[in-house]
Amino acid sequence: MRQRENEQADKAMPRVRDRLASAYAEIADITRAICATCDPPYHCCERAGCDQARSWAKHAYSVALAEGEGELPFLTETGCTVEPHLRPLCALFLCPDREPPLRYLELKMEIVRLEAERWR
Ligand code: SF4
Ligand code: SF4
Repeated sequence: MRQRENEQADKAMPRVRDRLASAYAEIADITRAICATCDPPYHCCERAGCDQARSWAKHAYSVALAEGEGELPFLTETGCTVEPHLRPLCALFLCPDREPPLRYLELKMEIVRLEAERWR
């Protein structure tokens, strides 16, 4: 039932779905590059984030992420392997210690608008 709802919503709004995926990919490139400079890199990742990603992927996109192994099954030395639109909170997350670049802020505003459009 949920899968059919997602497919119908995305079929009705392919532009919104595709643009959301692109915007999440671009913003994740920004946060990935910043978090890669931390010591250790990506140290804000935690199991709850992976669980949230798994849940969002399933309910919003009908995608089943692999269970994987270990505490952080999706994290590699070069960052997370989950497509950014399937892990929206992680893709957007940046600690208050880091000043986000202007492009990050532009993308975040666009994502908020597109998510509202997708789910209205
Ligand atoms: S969110 Fe901040 S503290 Fe966490 S890994 Fe990224 S830059 Fe480092
Ligand atoms: S970015 Fe990836 S590895 Fe890190 S918490 Fe989120 S889903 Fe897990």
